[in-house]
Amino acid sequence: MNAPLPGVFRAVSSVSVDPAAAYIAANSFERPTLVISRDRVAQQYDALHAGLGRAHIHYAVKANPAPEIIRLLVRKGAGFDAASRGEIELCLAQGACASRISFGNTIKRASDVAFAHSVGVTLFAADSVAELDKIATHAPGARVYIRLIVENSLADWPLSRKFGCAAAALPDLLNHAGAVGLVPYGLSFHVGSQTRKPEFWEPVLDQVAPLWHAAIAAGHDLQLLNLGGGFPAFYGETVERPRRYTAAVMEAVTARFGDVPQVMAEPGRGLVAEAGHIAAEVLLVSRKSPDDLHRWVYLDIGRFSGLAETEGEAIRYQLVTRHDGGETGPCVLAGPSCDSADILYEKRPLQLPLALRDGDRVMIRNCGAYTSSYSSVGFNGFPPLDVIVL
Ligand SMILES: *Cc1c(COP(=O)(O)O)cnc(C)c1O
Repeated sequence: MNAPLPGVFRAVSSVSVDPAAAYIAANSFERPTLVISRDRVAQQYDALHAGLGRAHIHYAVKANPAPEIIRLLVRKGAGFDAASRGEIELCLAQGACASRISFGNTIKRASDVAFAHSVGVTLFAADSVAELDKIATHAPGARVYIRLIVENSLADWPLSRKFGCAAAALPDLLNHAGAVGLVPYGLSFHVGSQTRKPEFWEPVLDQVAPLWHAAIAAGHDLQLLNLGGGFPAFYGETVERPRRYTAAVMEAVTARFGDVPQVMAEPGRGLVAEAGHIAAEVLLVSRKSPDDLHRWVYLDIGRFSGLAETEGEAIRYQLVTRHDGGETGPCVLAGPSCDSADILYEKRPLQLPLALRDGDRVMIRNCGAYTSSYSSVGFNGFPPLDVIVL
């Protein structure tokens, strides 16, 4: 039933020149499949790079670890933010230079730190004394940047307090790094993922800048300001185009930090999300009672097979169907597994065409980030998200 539907998606003008959308329109799929275009990733890289200026891009590998994407970004001159031995090995296998890889997770396995050190990674993140001690033991002499908690994130997918230290802990951590033979090299933070507006960075930069200047005044020769990620993708609400967005962020950074020797940015979502779409299928359309105002639409992909970011209905993906343009009605959208948490949108129902039927193809737009990497191996027997890199 999930057969090619030539021309169907081409009717949607905004996706008509999009390689992944064209591929989905022209092919059939046995299971949910992410189709992602390297050309689109390359375009996005160029746009982000143009706006970021002298800030160097370190791609956050977890957003989409497809080897073809890593290889493309190696060719583009990107660095990589890796969170584990596995991600470091992936980057090295695709030709990345160890000197361009930062080990950005603040919660590392000691043997992973030793591995990173042995292959030549010299830049590590930390947010605690114990982690600094671990790095000092297993990667002696390494450069470290201290990750800060930032408050009041205005992001759609805030990163909470799991990572980072409080401002009050920073002086001791910088001193401790030096005392155990590490190089206190810089500071990092993350504004929260999907920070839709560049202005939303300002309150966060206002928190970090005084800490940066105080650390330098205290005698630390800080070289690196790591801005983290947060660069947004289009999910229906207007976002600034990447070049203008990053240029506005850099203007705000320069105004507060002055002439920092090295600035780094770690886009994940902003680099890959818009380059890919998922081809999925409707398994069932039903109502719970004859007078139910909402239809329930069950897809062959859900919370456990790639759409984890629907948690809290935080990220609202756009669906494209062959019935678009026809009359619509409110739907609860759910995944296929026998887990009652596998509901994607219920609090704010989606408007979908009344003509939608089981067997219909749906294309879920701008899914290149945090889908394949979040997909379980096969919860409930449903296969993990397939990936086709164009
Ligand atoms: C996940 C992550 C990123 C990427 O965040 P996006 O919002 O996807 O750009 C960047 N830096 C670190 C340390 C991360 O953990």
